[in-house]
This record gives sequence, C-alpha cells and structure tokens, in this order.
Amino acid sequence: MLGVTSPLSLASSSESDHQLELDLVTVLKQQKAYEPTEKSLLRKKVLDTLDQLTKQFVIETSISQGVSPHDAKQINAKVMTYGSYRLGVHAEDADIDTVCLLPRNISRLDFFDKMRSILLTQPGIESLNAVQDSFVPVMKFKFFNIHIDLVCTILPFSKIPENLDANDPSLLRLMDLRCIRSFNGTRVADELLCLVPNVDTFQIALRCIKLWATKRGIYSNVVGFLGGVAWAILVARVCQLYPNACASTIVSKFFRIIGQWNWPSPVLLKTIEEASMPGDTQPWNPRLNARDREHKMPIITPSYPSMCTTHNVTASSMKLVIGELKSAAEIVDRVMIGAASWNDLFTENNFFQLYQHYIQVVVSADDHDSLLEGSGLVESRLRQLLMKLETSPQIALAHPFIEGIEDSRHCSQKQHLYEFIGADPPATEEDRTAQVDQTFYSKTFYVGLYVRFEVSQPRDLDISHQVNAFVKQTQLHDGFDKRHMKLNIRYMNR
Ligand code: ATP
Ligand code: MG
Repeated sequence: MLGVTSPLSLASSSESDHQLELDLVTVLKQQKAYEPTEKSLLRKKVLDTLDQLTKQFVIETSISQGVSPHDAKQINAKVMTYGSYRLGVHAEDADIDTVCLLPRNISRLDFFDKMRSILLTQPGIESLNAVQDSFVPVMKFKFFNIHIDLVCTILPFSKIPENLDANDPSLLRLMDLRCIRSFNGTRVADELLCLVPNVDTFQIALRCIKLWATKRGIYSNVVGFLGGVAWAILVARVCQLYPNACASTIVSKFFRIIGQWNWPSPVLLKTIEEASMPGDTQPWNPRLNARDREHKMPIITPSYPSMCTTHNVTASSMKLVIGELKSAAEIVDRVMIGAASWNDLFTENNFFQLYQHYIQVVVSADDHDSLLEGSGLVESRLRQLLMKLETSPQIALAHPFIEGIEDSRHCSQKQHLYEFIGADPPATEEDRTAQVDQTFYSKTFYVGLYVRFEVSQPRDLDISHQVNAFVKQTQLHDGFDKRHMKLNIRYMNR
C-alpha cells in the first residue's frame, strides 16, 4: 500500500476510460504539453555541458587550494536534476531545475564566485542572476534559451560518487541547512516517483493538471497559487487512492477529491518523518508551530524534512483554486460520458476581462540587470500586498495575474518616462516637457480586485493605506536599490 490510508478502489479502468486516456494524450500533444524531440536533445546537451563545467570548476578550485592536478581530477562533482524535468512532465517552455553536488573542499562562496565566472564566459549563457541570500541560494540564467535554476549542495564527502543515492538519509547528518534545502528538490522528485503506483499514469495525469492550471491562471507558487511540486503531490495522492486506474480516471477523480478536500487537513504522500535529534531541522508540524497552523491548503513534501509547498496561499487564491477545481469537475464529468471534449478543460481564463478594478504594480529600472533583481524581489513580496488588500472590507477577492509583463522604452521627455514607470506626472509643464535621454525597463504585475460595497458604506474604494505600506516596506528592503530601481502602484478602472 502506498500512502497514508488504504486505496479507495482497486478497480481497473474500463475500455472506454482507456480510450479517453488515448484521446487525452492526443489533446495534450496538440496543446504542446510535450516538447518536440529536438528540444529534448538540446536539453540533454545543455545538461551535459553544465556537468562538464561543474567538474572543471571543482578541478580548478581544488588546484588553487594546492591539490595536485592528478588528485583534483579524482575529486569529481556532478549535476543532478529535479522538478518537472526529473519527474518527466516538463512542457516545452519549462525550466530545468539543477543542483551541483560538490565535495566538502568547495564552499558556497566558491560556487557563487568561480562557478559564476566560468558560466559567464560560456557561449549561450545569458541573463545570469545570482540570488545568494535566499531561502535556497540559486543562480538563474538562460542557456541556449532554456531557463536554468542552478543550486548547489556541499556533500560531506571528499569525492563525489557518480552513482550517488540521493535518498540515503545518512547524507543529511553533516550538511548545513542551506545545503539540505538545496538538495531537497532532488530527494523529493526521486521519492515522489517511488510513491506512485504507476509512473506512466502519474505523468499523463500530471501533464493534464499542469496544463489546465496554467490555462486557468492558477499555476504559480510565488504569487500565491500552487506551483509544480504542489500539483505533483496532489496528483500523486489521487494515484495512490486509485492504484489501478488509468490517467483519464485519475483526472476525473482528481477534480472531485481535491475540489472537496477538507482543508486545512494536509495532503500527505507518507507519514511525516520526525527529526531524530533535537538540533535537527524540524519538519512541518502544525501542532508544534503556530506558523504551520496558518497554512490554508497544506500540501506536504514527502522527503525529510517535510515542508509545506503552499505557504503562500492566501484566502483569495484558495477561493479561486477551489472554484476552478469545482468547475473542472463538471467539465470532466461531461468528458467522461462523451458529452464534452478534453479541449473544453483547457480554455483560457480571460483575467483582464474578469474584474472592473485592477491595480498595476510597476517595477522599473535604468538597466536590465537591476530590473531582474528588483522584479524578483517585488514578485516574492507580492503576497504581502495581497494579504493587505484582503484586510479591506470592500475587497472580496484580490486576484494576482500569474506572471509579470516586461517592457522597455526609450524616453525623451520626463512626462513619458513617468507615465512608463507608473508614476504621477511631474507637477509643472516645464518639468513635464523637460528633456531626458534614457531607456527604462519595467515589469508590471497585475492584481484584479473583486469589490463589494455594503449598502451602508461609501461607494469609493480607498486602498492607499495598504498600497503605501507595501511600497514603503519593499523600498526599505536590502535588495531594493533606490538609485536604480523604482516601484509605483497604479489603480485602473476598466
Ligand atoms: P515547472 O514545470 O513549472 O518548472 P517544477 O515542478 O519544476 O514545475 P519549479 O517551480 O521549477 O516547479 O520548482 C522546482 C522544484 O523546486 C520543485 O519541484 C520543488 O522540489 C522545489 N520547490 C519549488 N517551490 C517549492 C515550494 N514552495 N516548496 C517546496 N519545494 C519547492
Ligand atoms: Mg521547474
């Protein structure tokens, strides 16, 4: 038995459900949920090159520490993948999540300094952005146009074996917290694949759910919806409950079961492993930690230390996700009896027509690297703004668009520049027409507001308090460089 309860049914799917699975795969291919062979080959080549560069980095760093060239070559290092690529469910435009496994003579500083320099000289690498002090320190870049997230973990070994077992629990004992976190993705992906009864079925069902969630605008961890790993855990749980069902059955059960889930009961794939020693990292535990009790839709990773993948979910995003699950359940019920097609599940939600009130959060900068940094910071804090907006009694729903939209403009007058960055126009005519000669870069995040006025309340919406507090707090953050970055929030009434 896989999972924390017995399965709900051991039945195999019917002939017609198998036919529906074939139809589903055809539609998924038409919708580009699978990537073409040339792209898969390019991904392999990119990964091989990254692995070679990591090995080169470790050899050079070891030699600079006084190790002989012969011994340095024996130390070895390697790159492993995690995330959707490792799970075999990535779409054509997905990133590759990678981790460098490094020996103990290498430090994280070496990685962010020397490995970064090696990457910067490599043809095909662009837009490299190193985020060194985050929860999981990471270098993000494009390699032949494929987005790569590269993290590093230092293992308690003098040499890195090529055939390392990522799930060996003794590995974690001597690792620091950041390394444990950086290694967690690989361990989660490996364990997820062991915790589902049939990997092929899981992959087809998960591709379907990822495509649906993307089309419906509820696929994103950072702005408060569910990210790739949360959707993967949900699908895996349904696979455990119906171990012999094919993917079409799993998809139909998925919407019913997850749409009616008794939140905040957690979704678990196995019993949470407790810390074995007092100083160890504490896994998710709502009985012990008040913070964990605040999670509205806890979806928990299986590998020690288990984490909640959905700590960003707000009251609004929870309502939106549950609403989408319920509508999808009705569509799939019709697909299962031949009264609708799988394509009906993948209609896009038209976010920009849904509401009458929107706000634009405009991050801008005078160079593109600063924009990358500033917009990353604002996006990661957007949830703070959403929660502030939800405190307004007039706002029934604060709905973020799942991604920011980038733009750039060369401005020759101050008023055009101000308009582009979302600021109020300069006060005087002289100032408005003052000449500038500058290119500005921007990224705009949108939030749709469902506003409900009570009969007894005035019919105007004042969110200046929430907005100003958010802008002030973000500008005070260490990562916000006021010399190069600007943050403005603009209200729009459709
Ligand atoms: P996608 O196809 O969108 O890239 P993904 O599963 O690869 O899907 P990413 O957002 O790229 O998702 O994240 C990569 C991995 O990082 C996840 O699979 C997971 O292991 C880890 N991760 C990301 N977000 C979280 C989170 N909120 N909690 C725990 N782990 C996370
Ligand atoms: Mg990914």
